[in-house]
This record gives sequence, structure tokens and C-alpha cells, in this order.
Amino acid sequence: MEGNLKQALCAWQNILGLKHVITDEASLKTTQTATFLTTQRSLAIIQPGDRTEVQQCLKIANQYQIPIYPISTGKNWGYGSSVPVQDSCVIMSLARLNRIVDYDEKLAYVTVEPGVTQRQLFEYLQSQKSNLWMSVTGSTPDSSLIGNILERGLGEGLYGDRFNYVCSLEVVLPTGECIHTGFGRFAEARAVRVNRWGVGPYVDGLFTQSNLGVVTQMTLWLTPIPRYFQLFWYAIDEDTRLEELVDAVRYLKLQGLIPSAFVINNDIRMLSYQQQYPWQEAEGAMPLPLNLSQD
Ligand SMILES: Cc1cc2nc3c(=O)[nH]c(=O)nc-3n(C[C@H](O)[C@H](O)[C@H](O)COP(=O)(O)OP(=O)(O)OC[C@H]3O[C@@H](n4cnc5c(N)ncnc54)[C@H](O)[C@@H]3O)c2cc1C
Repeated sequence: MEGNLKQALCAWQNILGLKHVITDEASLKTTQTATFLTTQRSLAIIQPGDRTEVQQCLKIANQYQIPIYPISTGKNWGYGSSVPVQDSCVIMSLARLNRIVDYDEKLAYVTVEPGVTQRQLFEYLQSQKSNLWMSVTGSTPDSSLIGNILERGLGEGLYGDRFNYVCSLEVVLPTGECIHTGFGRFAEARAVRVNRWGVGPYVDGLFTQSNLGVVTQMTLWLTPIPRYFQLFWYAIDEDTRLEELVDAVRYLKLQGLIPSAFVINNDIRMLSYQQQYPWQEAEGAMPLPLNLSQD
């Protein structure tokens, strides 16, 4: 492995330049730390700048048999951050692929690369004076759209089940070959950004929660800003009423009266939305002492 790694690093440096093949300990440490204890080490971080470089990098990884762990922005907090799932991987950071490739106000879609963040898309829609809304998650504005969707993340709004509202993936396979899903494989197809199925087997799901390929583009559907919108919070004081709440929500959901995502959080999850871990009040203790979560 060591000899192979050296040769692979050299080959990646030739393509990406020294600056984008990172091996210093301090940087590697940031990909070895999560919100829970992990032991996996990463060997290097490579930062391709476009799809062709992703293809070249994967070909090299394949040639020298080096496992690659791709991250979009690496903010998978609570689920492993940017720590690879197995030991001795090279991290492929896709943050430099951060273009908004296509946008159509009338057909309500946007096509993005993996480095595009929630904040970037929000600011882009504002700059376009768009009448469209994106579904957002409760994570940081600097988290990616594609990484979250590939994890089958949950957002707010009508398209909160985010993977349900995307199509036309561009994926680089471990061999370096690039494929386009749906109608994307037909050069002249005009429904690429609005039709999920294309013809033949539907394969998009293969690339979620799998790392079977590196997704370099995805089209996300957007919703028109409603004429009236009301956000509400609710709380139940007693745990014993939870069952009743779930029954009521199920009824409303099945009647189609709650088309958006509906979330039931416990107190600890609500706290994590609102503030940093209260180290001082908890006097350094972990997990959160019960009396603090109840305050
Ligand atoms: C307070 C708080 C609130 C949160 N709220 C939410 C929420 O409301 N909804 C929610 O879903 N999550 C939430 N999260 C979890 C997490 O922060 C988000 O899901 C975040 O978007 C994931 O980070 P990322 O976008 O940088 O993805 P990444 O960390 O880059 O990637 C996530 C996973 O996808 C894979 N992957 C990434 N990019 C690619 C690619 N291009 N090709 C192939 N595989 C890829 C990675 O290997 C990794 O396994 C929350 C976390 C915290 C701490």
C-alpha cells in the first residue's frame, strides 16, 4: 500500500498541482474527527477542480488500489462529519466544484455541483429575484446540497424529502467513466432536468448512501414561493401524549392535509438547533446531564 500510495500521490500532484494534494497532519486531523469517537485515519486529501479532474483522480486511485472517500463539504455532523467509513482512505473533497450550472425560473429547477452550499443557492436565488424556494435543512448554511441529498437528508417545505425531488445525476464511476442518469444519456434530450425516469432501469438510488460513484452534478427541483405561508411550533408537555400526537399527524398526513415535512423533535434535538453544547453549565460533562436538557 505504501509504495502504491507514493506513486498515486505523485500522479495526483501532476494533475492537481501540489496545493491540492494535502498530506500535512493538521489538515488530515480535520478529516479524522467527528462528533463521536472514531479511529479511522485518512491518508491524504485531494481536491479536484472539475469533473475531468475527478475522472483522472479516480482512474489513478483505481490503478493503485487506493480507497477514496468523497465529501461535498464534509459537514455530515452527527453522522460522521468527514471521517471516512473505513481506515486508510484518501478523502476526495469536492468543495472546489461549486458552480450553479443551470437554472430555470419557469420550469423551477437548478443544476448544481457538489460544492454548492445552501447559502450559495439562497444568495443566487435572491440575486435572480426568483419567485422560487429551495428546501433547506436545519444544518449549517455552509453544508452542501448534493452531500445531504445523497445521504437522503430531510429538509423543510413541500420538497422536504429531498431525494424525491431531484433528477439527472452526473456520476463518475470508480473506473473514471462518467454516466448521466435519466434522459441525460441522450445528447439532444430536452426533458433532462424535469423528468426523473428517462427510459429503462432507474439507477439514481444506487448512488445514495453508497459511495458507488462520485456525483458531480445533480438537478434539484424548487417550489414557487406560496402566496401565504405560516410557520408554527408546537410542544407537548407530557410524554404520554406522544402517541396521541402521532395518531393525529398520521391522520392529517394520509388525508393529504400536511404536504410538507412534519417533524417531531425531542428536547435534546431542539437544543442542538438553538445553541452550542453548554460546556460551562455542564461542567465539561458528556452526554448532556438530564437536569440541563429539562431546563
Ligand atoms: C444542528 C444540526 C442540524 C442538522 N439538521 C439536519 C437536517 O435538518 N436535515 C438533514 O438531513 N441533516 C441535518 N444535519 C446533518 C448534516 O449536518 C447535514 O446532513 C449536512 O448537509 C451533511 O453535510 P454535507 O452536506 O457537507 O455532506 P458531506 O459530509 O459532504 O457528505 C455526506 C455523505 O455523502 C457522501 N457524499 C458526499 N458528496 C458526495 C458525492 N458528490 N458523491 C458521492 N458521495 C458523496 C459522503 O461520502 C458522506 O457519506 C444536521 C446536523 C446538525 C449538527
